[in-house]
Amino acid sequence: MKPFDFVQPTTTDAALAALAEHSPNVRILCGGTDYVVELKHGEQSPGVVVDISRLEDLKSIELTDAGLRIGAGVTHTEIMAHPLIAEHAPAMIEAAHTVGAVQTRNLGTLGGNLVTCVPSMDSGPVLLALDAQVTILGPKGSRQMDLSEFFVGVRKTALEPDELLLDVIIPTENLGKPAGFIKFGLRKGQALALVNAASAFRVEDGKFKDVRIALGAVAPVVMRASKAEAVLEGQAVSQDLIDEAAKIAVGEAKPIDDFRASKEYRNSLIEVGTRRTLQAALEAANG
Ligand SMILES: Cc1cc2nc3c(=O)[nH]c(=O)nc-3n(C[C@H](O)[C@H](O)[C@H](O)COP(=O)(O)OP(=O)(O)OC[C@H]3O[C@@H](n4cnc5c(N)ncnc54)[C@H](O)[C@@H]3O)c2cc1C
Repeated sequence: MKPFDFVQPTTTDAALAALAEHSPNVRILCGGTDYVVELKHGEQSPGVVVDISRLEDLKSIELTDAGLRIGAGVTHTEIMAHPLIAEHAPAMIEAAHTVGAVQTRNLGTLGGNLVTCVPSMDSGPVLLALDAQVTILGPKGSRQMDLSEFFVGVRKTALEPDELLLDVIIPTENLGKPAGFIKFGLRKGQALALVNAASAFRVEDGKFKDVRIALGAVAPVVMRASKAEAVLEGQAVSQDLIDEAAKIAVGEAKPIDDFRASKEYRNSLIEVGTRRTLQAALEAANG
């Protein structure tokens, strides 16, 4: 590990000031489950590391006028245990359960997961399926964007070096929206996703409404399968259509072919994962 200076602010203003002062030679640390590994193997010093794990603004889960606000510093364990998440976005709990082992979930945060921006991140699909937005804080104030715009590429987000991710908001209209999540790995615990998926929709007058299908680990960033969504949108609910949408989703993804799994195997996981998450959302919609 190369030497670096370490700052541990206790207010968001102080964190932003430290980022502004040292940018671009500065990096944020929160739970450290991703970044400490990177620091250990990095060939260059970040210059200054700003530890944001003590910022109270990042730690709450609350209902606001905009929706369910989840601070970026909330851990996966906290997500799993929180009554507001259980009530309004239970698929997030399913996803959080699959992140690493208990130690990783105790330290690792939602914000860290999203900012690391690896295609296999387990928080991404459910949040994308629920049209989540993110709030970014920087020297010019705050800005909001759709999570889909926040993901720019592999390990690349819309954040500037002097900005931090403040929170994730699930919009009010999507609270309680029926949703399902699934993750496929090479083993049951501590698995990197070969494919993960989430689906969400409402059923109105027996028809699919506001359908969202999100896939992870199958493209440079977590993606929506919009053609598969369109197959279902506004149509009468049926298993045949769910099967068709699952097949269409395969054609939208671009999974890799590597030593962990062939492209063909990943394609079959996309189909099965899409189908099962749509079925899970339907079960949730049917109560
Ligand atoms: C053994 C092990 C198993 C794992 N298993 C999984 C898994 O199954 N699924 C999965 O998705 N991930 C997994 N991870 C990855 C990791 O645990 C998660 O991505 C975790 O949520 C990262 O959060 P963190 O707070 O530890 O991030 P950190 O390591 O502190 O930071 C990660 C990155 O995000 C930046 N960052 C953090 N917070 C903010 C913020 N608020 N604003 C701006 N930038 C920020 C940091 O600068 C850094 O670039 C695993 C990691 C380990 C070590």
